Amino acid sequence: MITRFAPSPTGPLHLGHAYSALLAWDMASKVDGTFMLRIEDIDQGRARPEWENQIYDDLHWLGLSWPEPVLRQSENLNRYFCTLRTLWSYGLLYPCTCTRRDVIAASSAPQEGDAPLHGPDGPVYPGTCRVRAVGPLPQGVALRLDMRAALDAMGDDARLHFTETGDGASREVSISRDHAINAVGDVVLARRDMGTSYHLAVVIDDAAQGITHVTRGADLFDATAIHVILQRLLDLPTPVYHHHRLIRDEDGKRLAKRDDARAVAAYRAAGETPDDLRRRVGLPVSGQELSPPRGS
Ligand code: GLU
Ligand code: ZN
Repeated sequence: MITRFAPSPTGPLHLGHAYSALLAWDMASKVDGTFMLRIEDIDQGRARPEWENQIYDDLHWLGLSWPEPVLRQSENLNRYFCTLRTLWSYGLLYPCTCTRRDVIAASSAPQEGDAPLHGPDGPVYPGTCRVRAVGPLPQGVALRLDMRAALDAMGDDARLHFTETGDGASREVSISRDHAINAVGDVVLARRDMGTSYHLAVVIDDAAQGITHVTRGADLFDATAIHVILQRLLDLPTPVYHHHRLIRDEDGKRLAKRDDARAVAAYRAAGETPDDLRRRVGLPVSGQELSPPRGS
């Protein structure tokens, strides 16, 4: 088993991150597996080296270690670009110049006043810019996946499903063609400002790191359909997914990136121990029954 924790260095790690990381670590430890770390820093406008250093520091303090070198997505941009070129050559991408406002305006039926259907990335794209694109891969523009064309390219025998273990039991989740077209739609695979997207990068890197079990917050459950579709298109294995509950504050609100009061660093500064944090998120305290994952 190879698990991973994949934080974005755009703020301090809080209790929710600690839970996610410890869960991945414990899962690997139980079966003598490997825990991997990946820094998801493609958003260069928001990623900061000081947050990255704080991540290493907090995770070490929590008692975690991982094989080096750590995969940093900002060093992997060429790989994303090559994959985009492949998808482009299959005729599955097209450039999109719509703003978020355009998308909302074009997808709301004015006579009904309905809110547009919400997909994993916000409103499902109404297809305004969809064309069969030719020529070289354009750069400096957002690229969307033509979902219908992608499903056609995979053929009828494309089994779109994944194993979800987040609810304790293990269950199969199937992704229907109808769901892919109408509820996911033509997602952005390369943002204009990044040359890639979270979805593309996460799929390529989970495969590159040989991740067999993805543990992450339940807020990413809906995005998994996109990831599985990309895995089929790119002929990559689909890991087992474990979407865990989100850690909330006393008012039941999700912890925000800037929730400094619940930053791991704040608990450290207040003299709490890693086991105190484990108790706070309801994980077993570092017991003798767990030995460190391999390779760490
Ligand atoms: N980098 C993402 C985040 O910090 C997590 C991505 C994932 O686990 O798939 O929210
Ligand atoms: Zn568009």
